[in-house]
Amino acid sequence: MNNPNPPGVPFTNLALQHRQLRPELDAMFDRLLGSSQFILGAEVAGFERAFADYCGAGDAIGCGNGTDALELALAALGIGRGDEVITVSYTFTGTAEAIVRSGAEPIFVDVDASSLLMNVDKVAAAITERTRAVIAVDIYGSVVDINPLLDLAREHSLAVIEDAAQAHGATRDGRRAGGWADISTFSFYPGKNLGAIGDAGAVVTSDTRLAEAVRLRRDHGRTNKYEHLLIGRNSRMDGLQGAVLRLKLDHLEAWNDRRRQVAAAYREGLVGLPGISPLVPAHTGSAEHLFVVRVKPRQEWVARLSARDIVTGIHYPIPLHLQAAYRSFPGADVHLPVTEAACDEVLSLPIFPEITDEQVRTVVDAIGAIAGELAAAGAVP
Ligand SMILES: *Cc1c(COP(=O)(O)O)cnc(C)c1O
Repeated sequence: MNNPNPPGVPFTNLALQHRQLRPELDAMFDRLLGSSQFILGAEVAGFERAFADYCGAGDAIGCGNGTDALELALAALGIGRGDEVITVSYTFTGTAEAIVRSGAEPIFVDVDASSLLMNVDKVAAAITERTRAVIAVDIYGSVVDINPLLDLAREHSLAVIEDAAQAHGATRDGRRAGGWADISTFSFYPGKNLGAIGDAGAVVTSDTRLAEAVRLRRDHGRTNKYEHLLIGRNSRMDGLQGAVLRLKLDHLEAWNDRRRQVAAAYREGLVGLPGISPLVPAHTGSAEHLFVVRVKPRQEWVARLSARDIVTGIHYPIPLHLQAAYRSFPGADVHLPVTEAACDEVLSLPIFPEITDEQVRTVVDAIGAIAGELAAAGAVP
């Protein structure tokens, strides 16, 4: 077995999480192999019910992954060719990929300079008579400013889709991710706050009509074994993933609390250091999926942290409107100054529920030392 505590500080440690859950997982594997219900079935239905309740929503529909969840949500809303969907460029490609695959056009808008969440004023300015929906992304585990966005959407009859792939368990103004938009989507990619042991995703909504539309489409448009009402697709959740997610859901609150504790320790430890500044949280109750700082010059910080065996990530180095994949879309032909500046400076530090206080201290101490080195070398702008 791999050393569960390798030297340095990893970016995440799923092996350790699964080691801790091993007795529960073993019992679950026994049960699952006993039933051998590998596609949908009771395990998935059980998770769907529990996750909908957790989000404070009427329904959750398990599917193949978080990108499929977005595609299913757009299809259920009837969005397609000729339509425009406004979203951010500062996100994972899956957000906009789903828009393109639906046949609609992505329209990219800038983010707020402090939170890096969708700037609702920019959304207002981007609405045309073809706009049908807005996809707000809960970047790093924080939720967009809900009320102004909902007001704007109601005024223009737009659907609001929440891409909550990074925000399982986040709350803002007493509302939980998955419970406030017309329809929300989740990814359970293993590294997310609630992660499967493979690919999985879900659509969450309190609109029973939308829920039914998603449910039909994720399983070949079928109403029963032999009858197909419409052209759907195969994006079913595995029984195995449903069972793992049901088991892990009971740990999510404690895991998110630990993430919040670690984020608070980082914020406290990094106060006043030159060349590095943590993002200011947009609200309390973030799921703290990633702990992101802005650094200058980033390549120096990455190299020096890596030399100390501290693993970091960049979310994201290239905004979507500047990716080759989106070059041909008119909505990508924009200059988004806040997004572009953030992409040059952001750095994600290790944050995961199993990180030890000692590892957090190792990171904070290393950052203090590097800040000193860079300042002494005159490398901090
Ligand atoms: C992870 C992620 C997705 C896509 O999820 P997959 O399960 O990998 O398809 C979509 N949007 C955001 C913001 C994500 O972080």
